[in-house]
Amino acid sequence: MTRRRAILFDRDGVLNEQVLINGAPGPPPDLAGYRLLPTALAAVERARTLGYAIAVVTNQPDVGRGLITRQSVERIHSWLGEQAPAIERIYVCYHVTADRCRCRKPAPGMLEDAAVDLGLDLAHSWLIGDRWVDILAAQRAGCRSVLVETFQSWLPSSAGDPPADLRPTITVPDTLSAVVAIAEADRLPTDGSP
Ligand SMILES: [Mg+2]
Ligand SMILES: [Zn+2]
Repeated sequence: MTRRRAILFDRDGVLNEQVLINGAPGPPPDLAGYRLLPTALAAVERARTLGYAIAVVTNQPDVGRGLITRQSVERIHSWLGEQAPAIERIYVCYHVTADRCRCRKPAPGMLEDAAVDLGLDLAHSWLIGDRWVDILAAQRAGCRSVLVETFQSWLPSSAGDPPADLRPTITVPDTLSAVVAIAEADRLPTDGSP
């Protein structure tokens, strides 16, 4: 069986808005505070029409920090799956950096798991993210990347500073533009026609 091309979506800042807590952007704490970004569902739908396998790969360290419950994250994800049924699976890392797990981005573990579970060809797949840790995870998994760039994209994280030579394959301003740019790079019709 040939392995499939995929688009792997980061969650916070790519599919949904972040919330400001004490001036710092973070994940919505519960479903009531969860707001999809304007182009998120259109982007997932376009990716499906273009024939990509679709999954979400998200770090949720606030669970490990005791700030958000795992049940709350799972409730958000079951709702997200109903809104965007083309999403085949949602991979979550609940760890914090100090756990030194293999799944917390910039580690490539969630992408590697998706490749095994969903039969993906990572070399011909893409990750869409809004932070440098997403781009580094993609690079480590041997996958191409699109950065939805914001003022936060290159800020230090708990993983440290971004490597000086780290670059996404493509940079765009929003999530639907990311999927359109992927289709162009893969020479697929960008209007979704066959
Ligand atoms: Mg993000
Ligand atoms: Zn982890």
